[in-house]
Order: sequence, then C-alpha cells, then structure tokens
Amino acid sequence: MQFGSVYCIGRNYAKHIEEMKSKPTADPVVFLKPRSSLLFDKGPIIIPPATNDVHHEVELVLLIGKTTKNIEPKQALTSLKAVAVGIDITARDIQSEAKKAGLPWTLAKGFNTFAPIGNFTDYSSDLDLENMDIELRVNNSLRQSGNTSSMLFNVNRVISYLSSHFTLHPGDLIFTGTPEGVGPIYPGDKLSATLNRDLSFLQVDVKK
Ligand code: MG
Repeated sequence: MQFGSVYCIGRNYAKHIEEMKSKPTADPVVFLKPRSSLLFDKGPIIIPPATNDVHHEVELVLLIGKTTKNIEPKQALTSLKAVAVGIDITARDIQSEAKKAGLPWTLAKGFNTFAPIGNFTDYSSDLDLENMDIELRVNNSLRQSGNTSSMLFNVNRVISYLSSHFTLHPGDLIFTGTPEGVGPIYPGDKLSATLNRDLSFLQVDVKK
C-alpha cells in the first residue's frame, strides 16, 4: 500500500481539551504530518534533540480506500478501507511555543517516527466505530483509556469535513484525535497501544 497524506484531528475529546486547557471548536481542528513521520515496523520512536517534552496521544486511525470529495456524513464510511490504532507523538514544548505565537503545529508533530501505526483491520459494517476502546500503556502501566463514543466529531463527520476541503485519496490516513491522559515518554520506554483489545495492536520502543 502506498500511503498518502496524513491528516490529523485535534481537540476531538472533551476531557483532553480540558487537560490541555484548550477550548472546543465548532468544526474539527485539522493539521497534517509529513509522510516521513510514519512508522509501521517495530520502531523505535526517536526523540530528536530539538525537544525536551515528548507526549503520547493514542488515537483511532482511518485508512481511506477511495477517492473522495464532498461526501455527506451518512455516506462517508463507504470511503473507509481500514482502521488501526496509532500514536500522534507530539513535541509538547514546541507545540506550546507555536500555540503562544499563533504558528502552525507541523514542527511539533512531524518529526521522523512521530506517527507510529499498528496493524490495519479492514472496515466492515459490523465494526461499530462509535464504540471502540482505545488504550495506551507505557512500560505496562495504563496511561490512556478512552472510547470513540466520546468523540466530539465522529468518524463520519471527520471524513465528510476533510472531504469538503480536500480530495481524499486511497492511502490517505486520518488520526482522529486523542482522549485524555496524554503524558511524557522517555528513551527506554516501551509503549503498547490497542484498538478494541486486539482489533489493532502497536508495540514500540522509545530511543534518543
Ligand atoms: Mg492528536
């Protein structure tokens, strides 16, 4: 599979918005990661010298299966090929500076290896995307445990909204936002993330 654009949604869970002291928005917050941030093998996640505060954000990731433009929310799942668990790795110090200065988040979100993704499971209508557990453990201790039922903008709305601005292509990926519990990771840490227990699984080490 040739992967394309990596879209990300921010501020999609109320309790994460609270912990970040941010405000909810009327429409989804959209940003991008470069393709070079993708990590599909066993890793590791590399913490670059430019940051001293790197956070995990576990998320449901969508893989687009067909060319999509201006699709209605009701139809949007017809564009979906597969789902996976992923981690939106974030240099929180760089992002905070960018936020203060009113600048884009790309530098904070886009380092090499900052978008690790687990195995994909093909989407079928028996998967309830509005009731998917997403969990992340650091060194076997549970740090994030959420459910997609808490999303402010559900998967249908996210795909529809993105397709109203961009033409989505097969191979495009969408990170759909993180629940609460984000926190720092350090060299030597072992991360494991799951989507609905075993629908998708990701295990990755952190290195300098
Ligand atoms: Mg995120």
